[in-house]
This record gives sequence, C-alpha cells and structure tokens, in this order.
Amino acid sequence: MDTVLEALRQAILSSSLRPGERLNPGDLATQLGVSLMPVRHAIQLLAAEGLVEVRPRSGTFVASVSAREVRETFEIRCALECLAVEKAVAALDASELVELRRLRDAMAKVPRSEADRRRHGKDNAAFHLLFLRAAGNAKLLEMYAGLRAHIQIAGVHAGDQDWRSRLAQEAAEHEDIVRAVEAGDAAAAVEAMRRHITRSCESLAAAVEKKNGSAD
Ligand SMILES: [Zn+2]
Repeated sequence: MDTVLEALRQAILSSSLRPGERLNPGDLATQLGVSLMPVRHAIQLLAAEGLVEVRPRSGTFVASVSAREVRETFEIRCALECLAVEKAVAALDASELVELRRLRDAMAKVPRSEADRRRHGKDNAAFHLLFLRAAGNAKLLEMYAGLRAHIQIAGVHAGDQDWRSRLAQEAAEHEDIVRAVEAGDAAAAVEAMRRHITRSCESLAAAVEKKNGSAD
C-alpha cells in the first residue's frame, strides 16, 4: 500500500502526472499491477497532502497551482523563515552548522539525473527546515508545515526548463545566508533569507504563469 502511495506521489512531484490531469483509479491500478483498493486509499492520502483534488461529481485531478497561490504562500513563507533565521542564529550548535554547510555544498553541484534533482529538492527543504527547527518554536514549525510550500516548489520545478539556469544564483543566495549565520549577524541573515525567498518566489510565479499560459 505504501509503495502505491510512493509511486503516485513521485509521479506527481516529477510531473509524470501533470497538474490538472484527471486520475482514473482503474487505469492506475492496472498500470501499477494492484487492485483498486490501495489506489483509492493512496488518493485519499494524497488529497490530504494537497497533491490531488477530489472534485465531487467531477473526478479526481492532480492539483494545480496558480501564480497568485505561489505569491501568497511565499509571502507567508518569507515572514516565517525570516523569524526562524533571526532566532536560529543564536541557537544553532556546532553540529547544525556542519549540517548547514554540508547541505549548501551538496546543492552547489549541478544535478545530472532525475535522482540528483530529487536529492537537490530534499536538500533544499532540509536547509530551510534546519532554521525552523533550530528556532525552537513549535507553533512556527506547525504553521510552516501547513503552507506545504515544498509541494508547490517541487511541482513547479518539475516542469520548469529555466530552473537549472537559476542554480548558480540559488547557490550564491544560500552562501550569503550561511555566511551571515556563521558571523552571528542576525540582521544580515534575515536580509539574506528575505532576498533568497523573494527571488525564488518571483522565479516560481513566472514559471507558473508560463506553464498556465497566462497571468493569474
Ligand atoms: Zn533555498
């Protein structure tokens, strides 16, 4: 049952199943060589994650995202992450700093395969989560998880051809954040985080507009 869930989740996050595409549980069961029940169960769980939309009397679809949703999510994300990094600067211990540098270096390498690309996405999520965890505020972490920003990022990246061209810029922005944190400069760390998230937001919103074929 878990493998069905994982197979469908990966198909959506890698855009093998496209945003807005109708999901036919019978066809999916045949493709995966399983019965209908685990597919239905997986769809329920994916709906709870926000990856699929169940529209009554219409069907089940891969969730799609609008540029407006990306901007709204990132506005909140920016506020939460700036607060997190401000608090985290004083709280990070030596092993967390080592992990931060490891993630920064791993993400500076250009992904060559689909597996690399998935790892890059995971490393980026881990990099940002590290500050949220270190901030030591459970409510903050809860609100961040509720944004499901990682799902939007993965979904847009998967279909965005320009993504690779922004890697060097992303690496430089992560470097600015790490440097400010290492220097113990909370104000500079907040500014670097704000620049990084604002720029990511505009890149993603532009990619969504291009994909959806219009501004929205
Ligand atoms: Zn990042």
